Amino acid sequence: MRSRHLFGRHTKADLPVAVAGEGPYLIDAEGRRYLDACGGAAVSCLGHGPNPVTEAAKDQLDRMAYAHTSFFTSEPAEELADRLIALAPQGIERVYFVSGGSEATEAAMKLARQYFLETGEPERRHIIARWQSYHGNTLGALSAGGNRWRRGQFEPLLSGAMHHIDACHYWRFAEEGEGPEEYGLRVANQLEEKILALGPETVAAFIAEPVVGATMGAVPAVPGYFQRIREICDQYGVLLILDEVMCGTGRTGTLFASEQEGIFPDMVCIAKGIGAGIQPLGAMLCSDKIFAAVEAGSGFFQHGHTYIGHPVATRAGLAVLDEFEKHDLLSNVREMGNRLMTALIGRFGNRSHVGDIRGRGLFLGLELVDNRMTKTPFDPSLNLHARIKKAAMAEGLMCYPMGGTVDGLRGDHILLAPPYTIGEEHVEEIVDKLDRALEVAFEQVAA
Ligand code: PMP
Repeated sequence: MRSRHLFGRHTKADLPVAVAGEGPYLIDAEGRRYLDACGGAAVSCLGHGPNPVTEAAKDQLDRMAYAHTSFFTSEPAEELADRLIALAPQGIERVYFVSGGSEATEAAMKLARQYFLETGEPERRHIIARWQSYHGNTLGALSAGGNRWRRGQFEPLLSGAMHHIDACHYWRFAEEGEGPEEYGLRVANQLEEKILALGPETVAAFIAEPVVGATMGAVPAVPGYFQRIREICDQYGVLLILDEVMCGTGRTGTLFASEQEGIFPDMVCIAKGIGAGIQPLGAMLCSDKIFAAVEAGSGFFQHGHTYIGHPVATRAGLAVLDEFEKHDLLSNVREMGNRLMTALIGRFGNRSHVGDIRGRGLFLGLELVDNRMTKTPFDPSLNLHARIKKAAMAEGLMCYPMGGTVDGLRGDHILLAPPYTIGEEHVEEIVDKLDRALEVAFEQVAA
């Protein structure tokens, strides 16, 4: 169908109309089934169709759908806050519920600024982020984001208080002969260099995705990188914000991705998985130190949206955590993640044009290159990622290809982020369908 509510390329192409869901499959109006191997954009962690989360949301709709947070709190919001705090990294003691990822990162960056106003350091105004990262599409989040293509035409509207250092992507960016630890230290130390260049007394926060999702395709940092980052933040009194909107909420096999880095952030942003696509839900979690400073100072966080702490969304979030626990889904993420990684390496490990296969849990990426030896990306005008997406949809597979060498640095990649509920049969189906889709796309660009 030609869409009248979407913009751009979607109005020109015929989009299938999704009408139903069943486990990891979405079904269109013609009855075609699509295996959702990317959870949309790493959202649908419980798959599709009716489940206990949809039931919980319906029940909450009937009980009490909405109560504005300047008048009331609600049982689901309080209960979900308690559950998340109990499970969150050490030091995290407060939660601020929002409706999505951009709202979560905006809230974190504003709270970082307010924290320093409350604590008598008003000159701390700069935020440092990384190139090749994504923190959302609203102006503040986009200013922090490091995807030059997304920023491009909006540069005049972006904040001048945001600064960038390099991404940590060993396979793509390490120098000849440089070991992972040496590389990790070098790129982490760029944070210190940037802080010193700006003046340590002027820097409020550093924001980064523990495993980079949309802009790089499931790229974890090398071991030791985030420990050095934490050290630098501590040394200069800079707050560390982790954006776990995509990689968090169990996606990498632990509830918080930072658990695998052995560090404790000052703030964490989550979204996507916590609402499982069933409700729009995100959250910014922060340390007691930050909360206490605001409470002792002006007394309130100068922020807010109409739908913060939404009862239906937070009730769905609670039901999502119940599902994780009831079915031990994070163990399945680790087990199926290992199987999928092994299957991908088995099938594509020696395939021409597949440069790198990486990721954690059920958050995996393949980087595609024109030349494997030189890691030269495909010519962006070939639109390889769009061809793969189209060929995969024709096979009945949803995967998330992104690409083009927009920074002159990065190749096309495919992000895989299937529901946490998949089994071995789905792993095989993903690899088989992806194989056929890649054949079609590679043939097209070769012609
Ligand atoms: N941060 C990260 C790491 C993301 O991947 C995304 C969404 N892809 C966002 C922020 C923004 O989330 P939303 O689209 O829900 O605003």
